[in-house]
Amino acid sequence: MKSDMIQQTQSILNLIAKRDLDDDEKKQLINETVDNFNEYINPGFLKYRKSFSPDYVAVEWADSGNTFTCVKGIEYIDCLGGYGIYNVGHRHPKVVKAVTDQLNRQALHSQELLDPLRGYLAKILAELAPGNLKYAFFTNSGTESVEGALKMAMLATGRRTVIAAVGGFHGKSLGALSATSKAVFRKPFLPSLHSMRHIPFNDLHALEQTLSCLQYTGDDAAAVLLEPILGEGGIIVPGDEYFPGVRRLCDKYGALLIADEVQTGMGRTGKMFCVEHWNVEPDILCLGKAFGGGVMPAGAFIGTEKLWSPIFSNPFLHTTTFGGNPLACAAAIATINVILEERLCERARTIGDIFLAKVKSTIKPYTPHLTIDARGKGLMMAIEFADTDVGFRVSKGLFKERVLVAGTLVNAKTIRIEPPLTITLEQVDVVITALGKVLKEIASEMKPQLIIEPIIKPIPVNILQQTVLSRQL
Ligand SMILES: *Cc1c(COP(=O)(O)O)cnc(C)c1O
Repeated sequence: MKSDMIQQTQSILNLIAKRDLDDDEKKQLINETVDNFNEYINPGFLKYRKSFSPDYVAVEWADSGNTFTCVKGIEYIDCLGGYGIYNVGHRHPKVVKAVTDQLNRQALHSQELLDPLRGYLAKILAELAPGNLKYAFFTNSGTESVEGALKMAMLATGRRTVIAAVGGFHGKSLGALSATSKAVFRKPFLPSLHSMRHIPFNDLHALEQTLSCLQYTGDDAAAVLLEPILGEGGIIVPGDEYFPGVRRLCDKYGALLIADEVQTGMGRTGKMFCVEHWNVEPDILCLGKAFGGGVMPAGAFIGTEKLWSPIFSNPFLHTTTFGGNPLACAAAIATINVILEERLCERARTIGDIFLAKVKSTIKPYTPHLTIDARGKGLMMAIEFADTDVGFRVSKGLFKERVLVAGTLVNAKTIRIEPPLTITLEQVDVVITALGKVLKEIASEMKPQLIIEPIIKPIPVNILQQTVLSRQL
């Protein structure tokens, strides 16, 4: 040990206990955080984050309501929503109270005595979830929910092949990663664990062909694993006939339908679960992200009695130490209470419609030079830009205007807007004003170039876009 570890850890504990920092402490915290990322986390992160530049470093310090505050005291409207974590807002008092009340009595479970909150939460989910979904297994993340769902599908059907979508994202552990579709994440780890087929999203013909070919070759599909709306894939909303069609085809070929609602669930799209928009009942529903109310990491997968019966006789076939712990269950129960009591599903629909309409009219003068499209459902929205460079400039510009959106240096062609469902109309207007200002600035910077070089820039058509185009035709 190079330094006095007791003193070092104690000084960090003192920092955690502080509510306010003086100027020297702020400076020290910012510098040390940058150094620690560079030296001990991964210097690569700093290169890609818009919160870091030579003249500007934002280190987070506090959050509440619909905003984050950095160490310097600058407040950001959160339109990133932690990629869908903060549906009930930041540190909702009811979620915080439930978790601290539980924490003050007992934090984690004994692993032998029966833990009551796990039972209550499972019962609540059974009543809340569509159709015959009944038994729940609790996890610590979305990835683990998908991982468990895949194992359950293999167990229940005795089959191995899983069909997922191009553009789909399901996590990065080896099992979930094989269902995730992007080459950049998969290629270094191929071959994937399971027999996996990726097909175009929103294309029933492709699904039926694949299911029937698999049946012919004896590689029968155990499950079709889909996000109801592609999140990481760029907020691709399928046609209304797609999910009912998927359900029908799954039944025809004896495959299970797994809905990955890790991002779309918990009210995000205007219904508690996105599949409810189409009255579709999946065989397994995966949850994560907002499930813990933005306070605790928590996830779950829920299935029918028929699916669960193989593990009745041996419940140890799939286990987790921390999944379903009392703090996580307390957070999830409070989250469900808040979503229902504050009517956040309705709110996501109403505010989402207004927000999207305003985004559309704001980007209109810049289409197709800078912007291509704005789309979404509820408060799961995205703006597509002419290219990654424009997207990154917009997300960086918005950041300077104190609005946080998704979009990194490498992945900003489509930036996601997923604010807390509690975002106010006043905050929506602040975001819209900032967006208009930033687009105007970028357009004026780019103008000379545009005049000399008229816009004949072809849009690269990848498979994902083909899917979007074929939907529009
Ligand atoms: C984020 C996400 C996951 C992975 O969840 P983690 O909590 O990051 O493990 C899986 N599926 C979807 C649809 C997601 O958006």
